[in-house]
Amino acid sequence: MHQTHDIQILPAPVIRLIEELSRLPGVGPKTASRLTFFLLRAPDELPRALADALIGLKEQVQLCSRCYFITQSDLCAICANPARDQRVICVVEEPLDVVAIERTGIYRGLYHVLHGRIAPLEGMNREDIYFDELLDRVRIEPVDEVIIATNPNLEGEATAFHLQRALAPLGVRVTRLARGLPTGGDLEWADPGTLGSALEGRREM
Ligand SMILES: [Zn+2]
Repeated sequence: MHQTHDIQILPAPVIRLIEELSRLPGVGPKTASRLTFFLLRAPDELPRALADALIGLKEQVQLCSRCYFITQSDLCAICANPARDQRVICVVEEPLDVVAIERTGIYRGLYHVLHGRIAPLEGMNREDIYFDELLDRVRIEPVDEVIIATNPNLEGEATAFHLQRALAPLGVRVTRLARGLPTGGDLEWADPGTLGSALEGRREM
């Protein structure tokens, strides 16, 4: 960060916050400085509330022990709901994809959140995501169908291919969302209507 040198005359706590904020995705040194000075001038409650929220995030939120969605207890609200169809698992890359699919209002099954995708160029391999955990679930849970809802881009397709190959010997039906979602886009930004149709029009892999 070449700007660090220029800010050395600032008090250490200010430099520290600028540096910490700069590590967030999409936040460069310039935005980090602007946010830091905003917080410095803001009433005391605001930075305090932000600090509480940040600490609460890691202390009170965990991953569901079954599907790896985010939750405040051992099982997430979806896994803990007996009305959900236990025979279908929809595999997604990120927790926000679950939110996007729930928004369509048509899916009644369970989920499995990979927390990433296979992208060897970025150093993301099968063992870096919750890939084998899905296979374990399919082995022990009464699953009939796995719907692969990874993103419609290169890495998402590659991940879908690896999943399909690993699931095939387990004798479960494997389907993929229908095409029609904006290519290269992320599931979490798809509009509920388009995503709902892609889910309903899913095809065997
Ligand atoms: Zn869960």
